[in-house]
Amino acid sequence: MVARGQASGVKPSLEVVVLGSGGPRAFGRAGSSYIVLVDGTPRILLDAGPGAFVRIGELNIDLEQVDIVLLTHLHIDHSGDLAAFFNARALTSDGPIKYRVFGPDGAGLFPKTSRFVDLLVGGNGLFAYQKTFGARETFDVRDLAIDLNSGVTKIVDENGLMVEEIATHHGDCPSVAYRITYHGRSVVFSGDMDASAVANLVRLAKSADLLVFNCAVLDPPGSPSQLYELHTPPKKIGEAARASGVGSVLLSHLAPDIEESKNEVMKSIHESFAGPVEFAADRMRVTVSIARPLK
Ligand SMILES: [Zn+2]
Repeated sequence: MVARGQASGVKPSLEVVVLGSGGPRAFGRAGSSYIVLVDGTPRILLDAGPGAFVRIGELNIDLEQVDIVLLTHLHIDHSGDLAAFFNARALTSDGPIKYRVFGPDGAGLFPKTSRFVDLLVGGNGLFAYQKTFGARETFDVRDLAIDLNSGVTKIVDENGLMVEEIATHHGDCPSVAYRITYHGRSVVFSGDMDASAVANLVRLAKSADLLVFNCAVLDPPGSPSQLYELHTPPKKIGEAARASGVGSVLLSHLAPDIEESKNEVMKSIHESFAGPVEFAADRMRVTVSIARPLK
């Protein structure tokens, strides 16, 4: 199974803490958000859904080294707590903070990520005070290509920590997926994506140890038809997991109807994918390790 917790003695090189395993519905799960730990130290915030702030406090997560923020897209259930995160992070710091924020370019109703951050905490932003609240903050924001043909791009490469991304597709909302690699371990986050982006995800996730896939719809016709233009159904999640050769899958961004049909969802994924699959829960801590065969 997906290995949990800390191995005795040695700190795992790469871990994921699930801050939020839910989506836009309020039913007890926080919106999508994760902290990635490197050698036991929290380093990366991936998405900042509503409730992330509370979970950070509940888990007593030390934010002092978290200066990389990866946003899969700018829907509220993935970004609503971003300002609250900046707020909390600033209060853990004695010195200046240099954030590197990555997220999709803009289109239609959605601003590019640099404008989104500027609207929040820029000089004329809603929370302009944040830049000097608790610590001096600078925000280096990079807008990522959203054309499905743009290929895998490396955006961080330092001291063995590598982050790569690729454009995905999530209805009318620009979106990207991320792969984080450290010391030979890799975790991939699909973000929200419809099945039209599966080929890109497979490219990014090739042989990764863990694939965190957002699972928000049942196989057709189990969910409202318009949702299939936004999300990938379980059958195709299983096919993507098999095609990319990942070691294990963690299903997140769960909706109430997914919770009610866990056996069905699991069965559908296992039709293609033989490796371990688990459902995420808020506050879950997952060690990214080479998946071992089930029992
Ligand atoms: Zn979502």
